Amino acid sequence: MPTHAPYIGRFAPSPTGPLHLGSLATALGSFLDAKVHRGQWLLRIEDIDEGRCDATSAEHILRTLERHSLQWQGEVWVQSKRHALYEAALKLLDTGNLTYPCACTRKEIEDANSLRTPGENRIYPGTCRHGMPAGREARAIRFRCPGAPIAWHDHRLGRFEDDLNTSSGDFVLKRGDGFWAYHLVVVVDDLASKVTHIVRGEDLTDTTARQIAVWNALQSGLETQAIVNTPAYWHLPVILAEDGQKLSKQTGALAVPEHDPVLNLNTVWQHFGLPKIKATTPVQWLELATPIWANYRAAQAA
Ligand code: GLU
Repeated sequence: MPTHAPYIGRFAPSPTGPLHLGSLATALGSFLDAKVHRGQWLLRIEDIDEGRCDATSAEHILRTLERHSLQWQGEVWVQSKRHALYEAALKLLDTGNLTYPCACTRKEIEDANSLRTPGENRIYPGTCRHGMPAGREARAIRFRCPGAPIAWHDHRLGRFEDDLNTSSGDFVLKRGDGFWAYHLVVVVDDLASKVTHIVRGEDLTDTTARQIAVWNALQSGLETQAIVNTPAYWHLPVILAEDGQKLSKQTGALAVPEHDPVLNLNTVWQHFGLPKIKATTPVQWLELATPIWANYRAAQAA
């Protein structure tokens, strides 16, 4: 029986550059959704990829959220300080025989995929699933995908059914150089912070089944704790650059302008197809936006 846990949402930006309007839209959507539910809104800085992330961007994200009165509850979770928890989670999965070491190089995986027809998903072919070839060394730890497809529901996009064996194959949780994969850390943190609702950009829709698989696997290892339901998902439309690309540091997305936060809120609001709100401060703007978001949420239900 599903339990009705209090709403806990989160915004989990990767500080690979200053906050741009696309991320502000996601932040606003997840913030308002928590506010509509009188829930909590947590902030997590996903700086696990230390080569791509930097402290200046993280600082810019925090200050920009504050300037728009998007105030999170509690302390900011910072992934680069949580290695020990990811290690413990990996150990737990390993105990359940849900991981295995893999020796395959990128080239070997590409070669195995070259037999697949164009349009077919590129997957890990399972070469090391039953043991690495003799004399080879592990380059990564992979997750053993479940045999059955993962079915899940998105608030806006409806029902999905994803057979990971044909969409991704067994995926990497940790690389040989110590790099943690997003699919592990995001789930460990969402589970640890008891997140009930994930509102994020639709560019992450495809990652959801992998994350649900890891969530279920971690849950089955935590025998002493009550089972926590997988979160509810709502993937919001993302703001695209003029050439149709996702806004990002790579596509040269500009930082959210410093002046006039109310104007910025209205800019991303209109992207959701919602009418401009007249307000003098971000706090007032957010108050006026909350009931409108509640109606928008209802209208978006698939
Ligand atoms: N850190 C991811 C990003 O900035 C978002 C992760 C998530 O919301 O699950 O794209």
